Amino acid sequence: MVSFFKFNMAKISGKAACQLAKYGPGSGGTYPGHVFTKIAGQEAIPQLASDLKLGSVLITGTNGKTTTTTLLIKLMSKDIQIRRSYENNILNSIVTALLSQKGDLGIFEYGIRNLTYGIPDTVQRLINPIGVVYTTISQEHTQVAGVKNPFEDYYKAKKLLSQGMEKGAIVTNCDDPRTALIGLDKENDVEVNYYGIETDAIEDIGDNTIECPKCGKQLNYSHFYLNHRGIYTCECGFKRPEPNVKLTGVEFGSDKWILDIEGDLLNYFANKNVKFNLKLNVPPFGFHNIYNTLASITAYATFTPKPENIESTVKDIFNNLDMSFIPPGRFEVVDIGGKFVGLGQGDNGDALKINAMFMKQFIDAPFEFIYTTPDENEEEIFNDHFEVIKSMNPDHVIVVPGRQSIEKAEEYYNIIKEEYPDAEFYPLSYEEMDVRIEKLNELARNSDYKYVIMTGCGEEQAMWEEIKKKMINR
Ligand SMILES: [Zn+2]
Repeated sequence: MVSFFKFNMAKISGKAACQLAKYGPGSGGTYPGHVFTKIAGQEAIPQLASDLKLGSVLITGTNGKTTTTTLLIKLMSKDIQIRRSYENNILNSIVTALLSQKGDLGIFEYGIRNLTYGIPDTVQRLINPIGVVYTTISQEHTQVAGVKNPFEDYYKAKKLLSQGMEKGAIVTNCDDPRTALIGLDKENDVEVNYYGIETDAIEDIGDNTIECPKCGKQLNYSHFYLNHRGIYTCECGFKRPEPNVKLTGVEFGSDKWILDIEGDLLNYFANKNVKFNLKLNVPPFGFHNIYNTLASITAYATFTPKPENIESTVKDIFNNLDMSFIPPGRFEVVDIGGKFVGLGQGDNGDALKINAMFMKQFIDAPFEFIYTTPDENEEEIFNDHFEVIKSMNPDHVIVVPGRQSIEKAEEYYNIIKEEYPDAEFYPLSYEEMDVRIEKLNELARNSDYKYVIMTGCGEEQAMWEEIKKKMINR
């Protein structure tokens, strides 16, 4: 137990650091948290977290975390004042949000890359969340800081964020076998609210079967919605749980989509079941954002202290949504004077597939694929990426290194060349990022094709957001 004096000293110093951080240089996002933790110690964090009268909700997963967090914040802010942080992988950014903001509920994105650099079980113990929200789990970051990061460890790390929970609720995607199993394993300890798709209007192509996360055998799928998300069963008895919140119908229009969503779940604060029926008008934002929509609505309906508001709040937010909710650097399609360029981050196979499906809505003529490669030790990601490139079957391919290694990028290029003999390679260095950014912009802008998709690896803000700015501003 931390002494009262020490705790208050740390809190005052942390809050003072918030003031400094606003004006001073550098990491305003975590510095106050560092100050607090340094003075009071990590074990004082639970006391600080208990300032939140209602508790906190953590959002994690491979893709869709930031968008889901953004949407959940929009929804929940209609009902109560909240403390929030997004795009974080470290505990001190949550501590900073606790120190610098006011509100009774915390909504925090928490990304976990692996077991060595993330401390998911410690974060769970110290923050003691009433909710953990899972988006989806797929292979990414197969190396972290130069070390191989096996998928089993990555999956285990995600699991650990909710494993110790004794109260509250888990919100999780039941179409993804990996996140579904995390929910099923915790049903005896906490409430679990599942979300998923339940309409044949959405169907992914190809065989995206994965191994059963419970027993390791191949799962049997009767339907694929998006990559490995679908309707599945296993010999061992594991199968997709029924969703509490589900998409039951969808109409795809060129300027808007209409989504039918049904919900029947336990609201945590009212401790009673609530039902809702929604018809939403949203921008044509891509299939992956259907999952982010379902995740945010399920989390909101589970944790709002005002369940009577659910239908009106959700309609208000989604019927007025424009594409600005997409985080910086993420994939979007821009019209640059009659030429359509889809560009943005696609660091893993799942993300690249999503980008490809989004772009496909627009393409009705030959098109070019400008691909930015992964690094050394990321062959698995390249293999996943290459499958997506081949499934799109572009008319021309350009390869550019997306990360540090030019040699490795050339190796990937040589594999691509076997399939696409007229593919081109530009060995642009990581050190001269300005040159790389300018060249990527130029390649897309001066392409002979009306449609260009430019995606793959590369830092969200430092690379993709800069290219987007150049492309849109000129
Ligand atoms: Zn199984």
